[in-house]
Amino acid sequence: MTTVYLSDKQCFICGAKSQHPMGNLSLGDVGERDLDGRPTHILRSSVYLWIQRCPLCGYCAPEIVQGDEADREIVRSEAYLAQLNNSLFPETANAFLCYSLIMRNRGFFADAAWATVFAAWICDDNGYSESAYRCRGFAIDLFETARCNQQDFADSNDQEEIYLIDLRRRRSQFDIAARRCDETLEKEHADRFLDILYFERELIDNRDSAAHSEREADDAKG
Ligand SMILES: [Zn+2]
Repeated sequence: MTTVYLSDKQCFICGAKSQHPMGNLSLGDVGERDLDGRPTHILRSSVYLWIQRCPLCGYCAPEIVQGDEADREIVRSEAYLAQLNNSLFPETANAFLCYSLIMRNRGFFADAAWATVFAAWICDDNGYSESAYRCRGFAIDLFETARCNQQDFADSNDQEEIYLIDLRRRRSQFDIAARRCDETLEKEHADRFLDILYFERELIDNRDSAAHSEREADDAKG
């Protein structure tokens, strides 16, 4: 069971004090997940607790009491403020996209990419389908950049491939997703990944761009 409580925070950037809802979990221990890593069931909304936004300066981070000196400049930049107030995205999605800008500025491309995936989930929830499409485009570019910089973004190469395939599928880029899935299937994989890859291939064949869970992949092999 998740416990949510309010916690006092002092912003690393501007020193303003504010209260933020906190939860007692992280992505590492969420249990059942969608194919793109999103927790299922009761923990599905936990993503809204993963980012804090300073009400005064707009600094967005999982923990706004912490930061890097390099963050001060980007948080005050025009590009950051434009993203923070971009009406094409829900407010919490903007917070994640701003955090993505900060992580990109630090050269942490895997963290920057995940922040855009979380932004996509918020867009999904709120019916911003075009914005979700754009967030997943950012995520693909940033995951590929992470890979070029030898930064892992999942606990195995197989899992990373599945995330990249699922992002393409969720964007309805079925031909690219199918090619990537077929290339991946030609290599050796643990049974668990094979089940998910075959399930992805089936979803791609069906031109299905909706969210699906790892549990469904398990059930499908039956
Ligand atoms: Zn602040």
